[in-house]
Amino acid sequence: MTRYADPGSPDALVSYRSRYDHWIGGDYVPPARGRYFENPTPVNGRPFTEVARGTAEDVERALDAAHSALPAWSRTSPAERAAVLLRIADRMEARLEPLAVAESWENGKPVRETLAADIPLAIDHFRYFAGVIRAQEGSLSQLDEDTVAYHFHEPLGVVAQIIPWNFPLLMAAWKLAPALAAGNTVVLKPAEQTPASIHVWLDLVSDLLPPGVVNVVNGFGAEAGKPLAASPRVAKIAFTGETTTGRLIMQYASENLKPVTLELGGKSPNVFFDDVSAAEDDFLDKALEGFTMFALNQGEVCTCPSRALIQRGHYDSFLQAAIARTEAIVPGHPLDTATMTGAQASNDQLEKILSYLDIGKQEGARVLTGGSRAALGGELAGGYYVEPTILEGTNRMRVFQEEIFGPVVAVTPFTDFDEAVSLANDTLYGLGAGVWTRDANTAYRAGRAIQAGRVWTNCYHSYPAHAAFGGYKQSGIGREGHRMVLEHYQQTKNLLVSYSPKKL
Ligand code: NAD
Repeated sequence: MTRYADPGSPDALVSYRSRYDHWIGGDYVPPARGRYFENPTPVNGRPFTEVARGTAEDVERALDAAHSALPAWSRTSPAERAAVLLRIADRMEARLEPLAVAESWENGKPVRETLAADIPLAIDHFRYFAGVIRAQEGSLSQLDEDTVAYHFHEPLGVVAQIIPWNFPLLMAAWKLAPALAAGNTVVLKPAEQTPASIHVWLDLVSDLLPPGVVNVVNGFGAEAGKPLAASPRVAKIAFTGETTTGRLIMQYASENLKPVTLELGGKSPNVFFDDVSAAEDDFLDKALEGFTMFALNQGEVCTCPSRALIQRGHYDSFLQAAIARTEAIVPGHPLDTATMTGAQASNDQLEKILSYLDIGKQEGARVLTGGSRAALGGELAGGYYVEPTILEGTNRMRVFQEEIFGPVVAVTPFTDFDEAVSLANDTLYGLGAGVWTRDANTAYRAGRAIQAGRVWTNCYHSYPAHAAFGGYKQSGIGREGHRMVLEHYQQTKNLLVSYSPKKL
């Protein structure tokens, strides 16, 4: 086991700048209005850097830079752009540990996850889109003997990308890799809770990108995100965040008739059929691990399996084992590789989760384990820690319907297949779901019947590139993580050509 040194201490792998300006046109640019905000680490609640507080003026400067860089970048060949993406991936791989530490320090998530998942998945995203853009082909329709319709892919132009705080670098990679592969230039706004990770990444790779191809404007949603999303100078807005914010983004975009892709919230069901407990091999163990995935990343995952539906035949025994498994989750310092659950990303998020625990109790939900702020004490005393919590109740309760975005699962029983599907679909959202059974027909039918963009079957929380990710219902519009996302970042040019010698 390794305990990485806290940034700021002599052995630290990451040294932050004392201040981060905006990254515009290949350089750090101070905010037009000269204002900065403090960025605390959720590990102990203490600020570790300050960050430029962007406004519309800064957004305009970033858009200028992105427009200046567009003609040259959009004319590079797919092979050239792929080479850049591959070099970015190699650089990140060589500095995996510092990137993982930075991500954990800023977000509060355990370093064992950033080492094994967040950063490797981000790296693989750049590699995947490097491959995909090389392999992309236009198409040709033979309309008749002498007439041909050619279809070319063209970049959209300057694209706006607005990302959340729960996976700062992975969410950036999901958006940057396809946009750059397709030949667009970018203005990206990171979340105000986690603005530093993208700058650590830029310090590592910015020399690989021509100035102005990627620009970062820091700041708050209303001050920096809104002018970016509302700008007539962007060709598209890609957004990941809350459903309520997604609605605003669509309104801004509609003023200029700009396309949007939205990755929004969820209330994902995790469905455990009776036969899970009858398995003689390790399947039950795997399913119990799947149950505890609600606490992964402290529950701050859009696809958090925050509703567990358990069939009545094994309800009591499965739940007892699930409680024991949840209580074995090791809390601790996020930079310790033994830690399984770390800090919530911000004090606001901590308070939101605690208020939902109160709401659940008032609604009559039974607290089966957890239910409070975790008092870790010592050097972590000022940090934002919550106990992994299991609530038992009914699907009508708010804790079953509203996104808590914390390590909280709401559990309820079901009798048969139809009730399982009806409970699973009784939500505004449709992002993720889990189905656990060894019966292939049940798994297939449940997977097809549950209205969610991704249904994990006998697994959960894996996010490989090359598997489409996105929401049904109020969980979003569009897909990421798969080559089909290129369609969201490209125009189609059709040349309809007559080779006929005859008159029209
Ligand atoms: P959020 O909507 O509060 O903020 C997301 C981003 O939008 C931030 O950068 C924020 O500054 C910006 N923003 C806020 N208001 C804005 C406005 N009026 N105009 C323009 N930009 C604005 O979301 P969050 O709290 O950072 O992230 C958590 C949410 O993200 C959860 O709901 C989660 O489910 C969702 N999420 C979804 C996915 C997915 O792929 N579907 C992935 C990760 C997170």
